[in-house]
Amino acid sequence: MSILIPKNLCPQCHQTRVFEGYYKMKKNCTACGLIYEREQGYNIGGVIIHYLLAAPLGLLTIVSLIFALEMSFPYALGICVVQIAVTHPFFYKYSALVWMNIHQAIINNGYEGKR
Ligand SMILES: [Zn+2]
Repeated sequence: MSILIPKNLCPQCHQTRVFEGYYKMKKNCTACGLIYEREQGYNIGGVIIHYLLAAPLGLLTIVSLIFALEMSFPYALGICVVQIAVTHPFFYKYSALVWMNIHQAIINNGYEGKR
């Protein structure tokens, strides 16, 4: 699982890419037929993972800027917002991939979605 996430590969067959670019996820795998958006709201697990990665990083940025550089809170918050905007595509894509691989490996045991 951990090797497949950076390579953006299908969690079931490991043959095709899940994302085209950073935001466009394919509807299904062309090799094995696994449906990536399995149901409405399926990617909420990815959103939670995204939040768990981005929120501590943003908080760490604000605290570091305030205490290490003695920056005022509004400026630190502004830099944090820019940081979130810059890192969002990366976190969005890889959080969704992490969620899909967790779901495939543990919850579905590699079976759901085979056609
Ligand atoms: Zn596949």
